[in-house]
Amino acid sequence: MVKKAIGTKDHPRITVSQTGIDLLHNPALNKGTAFSEEERDALGLRGLLPPHVHTQEEQVLRVMENFHRKPNDLEKYIHMIALQDRNETLFYRVVLDHLEEMMPIIYTPTVGQACLEYGHILRRPRGLFISAADRGRVVELLHNWPYRQVRIIVITDGERILGLGDLGAFGMGIPVGKLSLYTACAGVHPSLCLPVMLDVGTDNERLLNDPLYIGIRQRRLRGEKYDRLVDEFMTAVQETFPHTLVQFEDFANVNAFRLLNRYRDRLCVFNDDIQGTGAVALAGLYSALHITGRGLTEQKVLFLGAGEAAIGIADLIVAAMMGEGLSEEEARGRCWLFDSGGLVVKGRAGLAGHKLPYAHDHPPLTDLLAAVEALRPTALIGVSGQAGGFSQPVLAAMARLNERPILFALSNPTSRAECTAEQAYTWTEGRAIFASGSPFAPVTWSGKTYVPGQGNNAYIFPGVGLGVIACGARLVTDEMFFAAAQALARQVSEADLEQGLIYPPLTQIRAVSAAIAVAVAEVAYRRGLATLPRPDDLAAHIRAQMYEPRYQSYV
Ligand code: NAD
Repeated sequence: MVKKAIGTKDHPRITVSQTGIDLLHNPALNKGTAFSEEERDALGLRGLLPPHVHTQEEQVLRVMENFHRKPNDLEKYIHMIALQDRNETLFYRVVLDHLEEMMPIIYTPTVGQACLEYGHILRRPRGLFISAADRGRVVELLHNWPYRQVRIIVITDGERILGLGDLGAFGMGIPVGKLSLYTACAGVHPSLCLPVMLDVGTDNERLLNDPLYIGIRQRRLRGEKYDRLVDEFMTAVQETFPHTLVQFEDFANVNAFRLLNRYRDRLCVFNDDIQGTGAVALAGLYSALHITGRGLTEQKVLFLGAGEAAIGIADLIVAAMMGEGLSEEEARGRCWLFDSGGLVVKGRAGLAGHKLPYAHDHPPLTDLLAAVEALRPTALIGVSGQAGGFSQPVLAAMARLNERPILFALSNPTSRAECTAEQAYTWTEGRAIFASGSPFAPVTWSGKTYVPGQGNNAYIFPGVGLGVIACGARLVTDEMFFAAAQALARQVSEADLEQGLIYPPLTQIRAVSAAIAVAVAEVAYRRGLATLPRPDDLAAHIRAQMYEPRYQSYV
């Protein structure tokens, strides 16, 4: 009989009492063929498993052999999720040991394709589905979740999944994927993580007509009814899982800014698309400036796209520039937005509120090339979800205006990137300092190989979440994201920069996340936002909390 609490010292998970087939069917406890002889006898497993006891390393070999046999990335995704459903420890072991290979599968870009087809590839539901029909009983649903120690929730309403638009309940792949990264990249124990789909309907006709659609078949709830459901959820979380961090993910910008502003000063929340993106881009900019040798306050940044990502990045750049002595007005004047209506300028009709601080005095322009020529930016940041947004003439102009043009094509998934890595290097004659949101392979141009950096939030949010829960922060502040950006930039070595790499290799992600967590917790302690006592050695305390996917003995 297994009766033990499994987890870290500070966060024990539920006590279980399972044997035999029930134990093999519990992904949180199952070890498959790795159950020892003693465990097989004590736990009623004899005969339910083939006789040979495998090590975890041998099991990893089996998973990888099958992984490489899969004909495409979506099949690889399905293979990995099936493993997560069977044996969580082995899933995280494989992900951690093969992070560079696994990230593009369990996260962007493949997770995008998985979301497009989520109802078609569904095997076993993961996470909590809360729909508009559950109004009035959200607390009850949270109580149905089997773990009582939830510390991080990632919630989406599926309206803006990556750059793919409204995928309704199919968007559940995103909270599931993000939380896997919390565990893989920052060692947050899986039982502390809860993915939530707030299913308020979809305006996507294709899904409404799809017999395999998994969500409620109605148009999106809007206005007061929507707000009341979100409010009920936030209140239910406080009641059921107090001190839990709530990460808003892939909400359309009509709701993203509003929800963040509504809760950020009273509850422990953040929006990764706004704040996480801001931090990862600012860190990339700091690294790029190491290469160019120029100062932050000399930069002029033009954004293609004026949504959550653009505003998140611009706001953090403004804060950083103000930290280096510019006034707010001067700093904002160094950030320009270009959206589907052209250059965001003062007096343009119908501008959404979040764009107004960046609407500067300028004649209207509807062509990006003309905007580049007129503004002469040092950095061009693509966050529009529009493939091909950076055309050859635009990149050639950036290269003419700058010795080392800074080009970030951050839109996800790969199919939405504003340009490819190859285009960025060839169209700037190898002078671009380039990063993309989804990974691109190295590019050889004119005999030299360039390694593109991946400017992905996965560098930031896992460490921020770990830091927040390690100190019990009551709120998540912009200062924490600023500290996270600086901590990330500090992790980039001279050798990385020499290769043109502006982010550290993914293989170092656990050390990176730990450093970010320390920086975030430091801010919380300094600002009186931490609810847990400060340990003598904060870094050691945080490292000790990180989950390692190794089997524990049950006997
Ligand atoms: P959003 O919907 O809030 O904003 C999209 C913006 O693009 C809007 O301002 C829209 O007007 C603009 N746009 C649309 N078509 C355009 C066009 N043809 N020309 C110019 N602008 C156009 O979305 P968001 O949250 O800001 O995300 C945008 C993209 O950035 C997505 O693809 C997302 O995946 C990506 N993103 C990447 C990361 C990362 O880690 N790399 C993080 C966040 C977002």
